[in-house]
Amino acid sequence: MPDAKADPGQDEEGPRTLQIDLQTSFGRIKGNLAVPPGSVRLSELAWNSMAIDEKLVGMAVASEARQGRQVSCTKGCGACCRQAVPLSPAEAFMIADVVASFPPERKQETLRRFAAAKEGLQARGFGDRSLGGTASEGEILDLGLDYFRLGIPCPFLEDESCSIHPSRPSACREYLVTSPASNCSEPGVKPIQGVPTAGSLTEALSKLSALVLGGEPRVIPMTLALEWAMENRDAGRERYDAAMLMAALVDFLGSPDAKNKPGPGNQTGSVAPEADPAAPEAGQAT
Ligand code: SF4
Repeated sequence: MPDAKADPGQDEEGPRTLQIDLQTSFGRIKGNLAVPPGSVRLSELAWNSMAIDEKLVGMAVASEARQGRQVSCTKGCGACCRQAVPLSPAEAFMIADVVASFPPERKQETLRRFAAAKEGLQARGFGDRSLGGTASEGEILDLGLDYFRLGIPCPFLEDESCSIHPSRPSACREYLVTSPASNCSEPGVKPIQGVPTAGSLTEALSKLSALVLGGEPRVIPMTLALEWAMENRDAGRERYDAAMLMAALVDFLGSPDAKNKPGPGNQTGSVAPEADPAAPEAGQAT
């Protein structure tokens, strides 16, 4: 395992690029990835890595189109935003930074929604319900359906649209369907045809978070993200070498379990992902 601890003395460095060559089941992602200079917090790393997810999702959508299937997700359809959205620890820190950047009134309203969502879960006996790492697919599906039936919207859902669309986490970017959008309101009843992606950034970021924080890879439900980030705020302030973290992340994305994620296509293309170095400012939602 690489030692990903930061060297604070590198903060004066200029922008760097990381050459990546990632073979996926939908093709190859090859090119220079811009990485922030010096060191970053996990939140900033997560935010910068969304450029890779856009490429992965774009390749999956293009593959669907070649097979005559179009993504049916539309603005104003927030059905999937009542699911239990899983965040990697790095993304939980990112979401906390997003909320911390809000003006006071919006921040207060968002914190109220997070508290209401948690109360709703606890009131219906969902607060202590979790699954271990050995849970079967059926158990995971049942838990997801039960959560959906609670009808608790994501705290960022406004007028059935995402109010933090540019900063939404990878699970939201990767969840796309080609079945009728209305079917998503009745999961388990009507068929839902998801778009398989060539890798899961959520999973890769969870592995990366475990690498630097210790412990096993894990995910945190969106509704508990702020609480978790607050409890782990010291870890969220730690800085790590940006290029080293990004290289490890690309390795995790290219690991066999990610590469073998089922997908119908295997076309080869060449793209040059670019990450925006302007990550959210440091801070915690309090
Ligand atoms: S972050 Fe946005 S897209 Fe994701 S569940 Fe919440 S409202 Fe929906």
